[in-house]
Formats: sequence, structure tokens, C-alpha cells
Amino acid sequence: MTYRAHFRCAAGCSGQWPLTDVIYRCPSCEGLLEVEHDLEALGARSPAGWMKVFSDRYLRTQWPYGSGVWGKKEVVQPHVADENVVSLFEGGTNLFWAERYGEQIGLRDLWIKQCGTSHTGSFKDLGMTVLVSSVKQMIAEGKPIRAVACASTGDTSAALAAYGAAAGIPVVVLLPRAKISAAQLVQPMANGAMVCSLETDFDGCMRVVQALTEDPTIYLANSMNSLRIEGQKTIAFEMVQQFDWEVPDWVLVPGGNLGNVSAIAKGFLEMQAMGLIRSLPRLVCCQAQQASPLYQASQRAEAAGHPLSEDDFEAVTAGTTLASAIQIGNPVSLPKAIRALSATRGVVEQASESELAEATARADRTGMFNCPHTGVALACLEKLVAAGTIAPDERVIVISTAHGLKFSEFKTRYHQGALDFPSEHPNRPVEMGSDPAAVVGELHRLLDAAQGGASPT
Ligand SMILES: *Cc1c(COP(=O)(O)O)cnc(C)c1O
Ligand SMILES: [Zn+2]
Repeated sequence: MTYRAHFRCAAGCSGQWPLTDVIYRCPSCEGLLEVEHDLEALGARSPAGWMKVFSDRYLRTQWPYGSGVWGKKEVVQPHVADENVVSLFEGGTNLFWAERYGEQIGLRDLWIKQCGTSHTGSFKDLGMTVLVSSVKQMIAEGKPIRAVACASTGDTSAALAAYGAAAGIPVVVLLPRAKISAAQLVQPMANGAMVCSLETDFDGCMRVVQALTEDPTIYLANSMNSLRIEGQKTIAFEMVQQFDWEVPDWVLVPGGNLGNVSAIAKGFLEMQAMGLIRSLPRLVCCQAQQASPLYQASQRAEAAGHPLSEDDFEAVTAGTTLASAIQIGNPVSLPKAIRALSATRGVVEQASESELAEATARADRTGMFNCPHTGVALACLEKLVAAGTIAPDERVIVISTAHGLKFSEFKTRYHQGALDFPSEHPNRPVEMGSDPAAVVGELHRLLDAAQGGASPT
């Protein structure tokens, strides 16, 4: 069976373009493109047949199908030859049962999809393996591509630099100066990318990269490029697979440029079209209050009593937030995200800086190690449970988007009490000497105090 896929206009204009064309927007309406798969060809295999294929490959050794993304190659990028796949064994991440944290906030069936446990430490690897593999395929077919470029709030550039370096394709990254973490900055430096630190914010970097990639020999790697969405949508496939093909009630996703929430919805909708699932989860897009244009739009729609639409939206200048990867005021995937939310009876929620920091800390104390964006989603979850929108017995999955180690400055400052608001659960190292008897004595005192209910200081 040959599986086919092509670009089409996400807003519905006519036209189809090969996935190896250098094209990012619809020539008629200037809107975003999306990848459309040949559902008829996919339908020739039964749902049970696909489940078996996906399960047989999952995390196994037959390259590249052991990757969480490439194990679903027929529904992701059927046109890329196996020898052009650039894979770092992405996907296959843990679904963490948040038993203790769930109990604290009133949920029995809460799971955290640990997408940050990945080669560069964020879910961006899932999309970048697809984009860079597709570029390698284009180069193999004779397309004159000199480099791949992106604007980034940190994680996109880390992923692009790693996959580009693995493939031997030059990478240009445009970063907003002093607005990303030290780990995020050093990743593309180490991987040998051309790292440009611009005196602007993410939205400003985005304008520059669009001008740069008007040259067709420099390929655009931002999520406006819908190839990345194809890799990210496998998060949906994988979560359902990890529950033996059962669909959760809710999926919460931190949202900045709104590509990931769109990708996850696309994954669920395609699984439904393939007959792998019958129902859809409700999606929640979780924004930082400092950068919440979609939340504000949803509030306007609610006040006016109509469904959320693009007319409710106004771009904002994003304020500074600890959740720096979602500090975006004019999200490029807005129309896709609005469609994703309407298809899934979705909800938009927001969280303040102290809410996101405290939710991060509460969850960390039950064994997680969350990034601030995951903290935004957890804080939004706590609000929706408290409001009764999410019921205690519903199955909920929170998408954890990055590894907490990429944001150690945030965690350190929280535990030092050095953020702009007081920390409720600071946990500082206890300074001690080296005398065994003194250290043991002090530890007994601390353990007794902890058991007595008082927390050690
Ligand atoms: C990119 C990113 C997001 C936001 O995803 P969008 O697709 O831009 O909405 C959230 N968290 C982390 C850690 C990210 O890197
Ligand atoms: Zn169009």
C-alpha cells in the first residue's frame, strides 16, 4: 500500500502541494497550511490492524520505527525515505500517574505526559524530527536548501540545532536577548548553530525570520511550518496507546504560539477518522496571564454569548513571565487553535505568576520536576477542578512540555524566595559543618520536627 500526504490550506481554499515544496502559507488567503493524509489508503487496514502495527513497533529496535514519531510513519510523513529520517529516538515518553498530587487537588485519575523527557528536553523534538527529515529528503531530491532557520523562545532552537547537527544541515536561530534560560541558550551554541541574539522579543524575532526565509534556500522551521505539527500530533496517538486505546476525558496543554494544542487536536481527530477511537477528549489551552491573548478572546466570546472565533481575538504585547516559552502575544497558529478548541468542546484558562510557581512546587513535592509551562497547566487544572468544570472521577492528562532542568534558575529562585512574590514551599539546603555527631544530632532534630508536623526550616 502507498500512503500519500500533501499540504492544503487549513482554511479550506482549493489547491494541494507536495510536502517537499518550499511553501508555508496558502497562496490564496495567506493562511496556514496543514498536512492532509489519504484516509482511504489508511482505511485499507482495520483499526485493530493499525493498533497492532503501532504496538509492535513501539520503542523496539527496527530503525526508525522504534521512535514514537516514526512508529506512526504512515500517518506522519509517508514520503520520507527511511534513509533520510533524522531521528534521535524521540517520543515514547512516560505517562506519569500523579497519584499523590492528584489526591491533593481532588483527582483520582490524573496523569502527566512527560514530553520533556527527550533528547533536547522538550516536546519540540517531536516536530523537529519530522521537519529536518523532510528537509533531508528535499535535499536528496535536489532542492537547493542551504540552511534551516527559526525564531524561538528557546526550545525550538535547541531542537532544530540538535537535529540539524545530527543531519549535517546548517542551522540559524534567532533568539530574543535575555528572554530565554541559560540552558536553552547553550544548547544551540553547543550544537554549532549560528546563534543570533536579537534586541527584541519573540514576536520581533518571528518578523525577522519571516523576512530571512523569503529566500527559498533558507527553510523556515517555525511552527507556522505545518510539518512540525505532524510530529507533535503523535502525542495524542501515544497517550491513547498508553491507555490501551482508551480516550481520556481531558487533556491540558500550555499554549503560546498554539501549535501544540492544534497538533494534539489533529491527532485525536485523525485517530477518530481511522476508527482507532470513538470519542474525543476535551482540550484545555492553558496560558500565562502575562501572555494570554487567547484567554482574553475566550472571555470576550463568553461575555457576548457566542462561540469563540477569530473576531474575538486581539494581539497583545506579551508581559514578562516565568513561563518564557509561552511569552507570545500574537500566536501564529491562532486559527488552527480555535478550530481545535471548537472540535473538542475546549476551554481556555490562565494562571498568574505565583499560581504557576506554586503549582509547579506542589507537584514537584510529589516526585515530578516540572518546567514553569507545565506549572501553568497544573495551575489551570487546579482552578478547573475547584470550579467543578473537571469532576473528581474524570481521567485527566496534563502535557508536560519541557524538562525542569532547562529552567533551573526559576526553581532555584523559587526555593531561595527570590521571585517577585513570597514562595509557599521554599526548601533550602541546611548549612552544616562536618562533625558526624553534630550533623547526626541536627538531622534527628529536623526529622523529629518534620514528624511533629512542623516543616524543617
Ligand atoms: C513551545 C513550548 C510551549 C508552547 O507550545 P506552542 O505550540 O507554542 O503553543 C510550551 N512549553 C514549552 C516548554 C515549549 O517549549
Ligand atoms: Zn487559503
